[in-house]
Amino acid sequence: MKLLVILLFSGLITGCGGNSSRSLPSKLLLVSFDGFRADYLQNYEFPHLQNFIKEGVLVEHVKNVFITKTFPNHYSIVTGLYEESHGIVANSMYDVITKKHFSDFDDKDPFWWNEAVPIWVTNQLQENRSSAAAMWPGTDVPIHNTTPSYFMNYSSSVSFEERLNNITMWLMNSNPPVTFATLYWEEPDASGHKYGPEDKENMYRVLKEVDDLIGELVHKLKVLGLWENLNVIITSDHGMTQCSKDKLINLDLCIDRSSYTLVDLTPVAAVLPKINTTEVYNKLKVCNPHMNVYLKEDIPARFHYQHNDRIQPIILVADEGWTIVLNKSLPKCDHGYDNSLSSMHPFLAAHGPVFHKGYKHSTINSVDIYPMMCHILGLKPHPNNGTFGHTKCLLVDQWCINLPEAIGIVIGVLLVLTTLTCLIIIMQNRLSVPRPFSRLQLQEDDDDPLIE
Ligand SMILES: [Zn+2]
Repeated sequence: MKLLVILLFSGLITGCGGNSSRSLPSKLLLVSFDGFRADYLQNYEFPHLQNFIKEGVLVEHVKNVFITKTFPNHYSIVTGLYEESHGIVANSMYDVITKKHFSDFDDKDPFWWNEAVPIWVTNQLQENRSSAAAMWPGTDVPIHNTTPSYFMNYSSSVSFEERLNNITMWLMNSNPPVTFATLYWEEPDASGHKYGPEDKENMYRVLKEVDDLIGELVHKLKVLGLWENLNVIITSDHGMTQCSKDKLINLDLCIDRSSYTLVDLTPVAAVLPKINTTEVYNKLKVCNPHMNVYLKEDIPARFHYQHNDRIQPIILVADEGWTIVLNKSLPKCDHGYDNSLSSMHPFLAAHGPVFHKGYKHSTINSVDIYPMMCHILGLKPHPNNGTFGHTKCLLVDQWCINLPEAIGIVIGVLLVLTTLTCLIIIMQNRLSVPRPFSRLQLQEDDDDPLIE
């Protein structure tokens, strides 16, 4: 009981202390290995990553945001917002008012990014701090007229080594100091698309390469003396699912192409009708049983994917593993599907002075990462869809309690109280002195003769 009180008290004190007790701002490196499906960790070997986790924390599943595509999810991680709120609603977008287009290859217009403020911008507005990025979607765009102080223009041909060299150089030698940095790598997404996550042989090779890169990262941080004081988060944007040539949804079999514009195709198609919306909707609605068809106003609330002009009047959502095509028969192993599917989820691992060691957590939302990062950096977060409380168990300066622990503590307290009560009752019984039985005396008196 005493121990419990001490634990509660110390937890509350440290929990309330937060960042205020630290004189120097924490440094944070946020790393994304694109398309790192959560269960790769169980199904393949990652000696370097497992070492990293052993000394840090692991969140086994991160529930990402719908649609489960690269640009939207990377922006949710750094803003804490659902796609309808941060405005990057797909990898391919069209804005009907300005007639602007957005794609993987045409993403530099700040117009698309300015609906939110990413953490590298907020970090840089603090006195005596700067941000750095070795490629993360949006970091080479002047969002709200601000890029990170140090960044690289996106190019998939730049090696991991060069990205790592740059980011560590900036973390070490910049003034004002870099306190927030990002590092991005295209694998295992590229190979996941190419081979499919169930191709054990190829994925084993690719994932070993990814693990070796994590080994390189940790080794370099150690050699440069950055390892002990730097907080490092390794996560991803989405998972990957297996495809099949038998799982194709051919829109050309259902509707004439001239009646609509396709802004995005698969596995979530964004449809802008050229004729009557209801007519297009009715034709698509009966197109294929493995595809849900929604008018924008009927998109399920759980997707948080409705209130933005960039979301088109009709969206088509393929079932897991199904590919939406236009009169061609090539399936695509992909992501982008319903974010309640575990195959779409990535993981999160973290290491550093702010994180516990050897702690495992089952799940958080990807939008929860932003308020946690703001806490680590001592930044005031912008309004967001994340919940800081979901990540408290990962952090050493926070008091947290999970359900099994709570049940354990309640049972423990009840046991202690029951034992104490029993002891008190027993002790009371033992201490009580037996009193003479008064009626016996009366009986003795009764024996006396009435008249002597
Ligand atoms: Zn991706």
